[in-house]
Formats: sequence, structure tokens, C-alpha cells
Amino acid sequence: MSFFIWSPNRALSQRQPDATRCRCAVRGVGSYFSHQCRNKVKVWRQYEGKRMGFCALHDPVKREALRATRAARWEAESKARDERDAYSDARRAWLLASVEVVRRIAAGANDARGLAGEHLAAEPKKPA
Ligand SMILES: [Zn+2]
Repeated sequence: MSFFIWSPNRALSQRQPDATRCRCAVRGVGSYFSHQCRNKVKVWRQYEGKRMGFCALHDPVKREALRATRAARWEAESKARDERDAYSDARRAWLLASVEVVRRIAAGANDARGLAGEHLAAEPKKPA
């Protein structure tokens, strides 16, 4: 369901909205024309300089709070995904470098233990 607020700046045809009902113009799934939300007014809000009534579902303050919560969650998820990707890339590069270390040891490197220890210490840390 999509909707917009039936405001003075965004009129829904020439009709006047029913003041006892929510001021959102809604559109059901698959329908082309919008109509005023049928829910009764639960809260009054100042919107575009006018006092308007909204139902609990379309309360602009609640919608904004919900939007902010979702944006914060998406931001956190995106950051976690980026960290996982960076770890995955670093881990792949480290594993490829391991082959090189083993080759050097097999070729008779003087300090095999030091070389292996150094490489193991450089292992990328998994993000929490
Ligand atoms: Zn409504």
C-alpha cells in the first residue's frame, strides 16, 4: 500500500477531505485511484502549517521515527557487510601468501620457524 498526505499543497482532486478521518490518501494494491484513509483520527499534527488529523498507522511522527529506526538498522547492516567483505578479501590474500611462505621454507629458508611465526602473526582478525 502506498500513500501520501492529503495536504493543501498536494490536493487529491477538488474534493474536501473528511475532517473526522485520517488525512492520508491511500491506494490499495492494484488500484489506480487514491482515496482518503478510512480510519478515524487518532492524533492531531501540524503539517505544512495546518492542523491535520491522522490515524495511528499514518501518524507522520510515528512514520518518521520508524524511518529513522530502519535507516539506522540498514546503516549498521551495511557496515557489518563491508567489514565481512574486507575480512574475506584480506583472508584470501593471506592464504595465497601462505603458499609463498611454504615455498620459501621448502626451498630451504634459513629461519623457517621465524618465517612461519611471522606469517601466522599477520593473519587477519575476524570481525566480531
Ligand atoms: Zn490513515
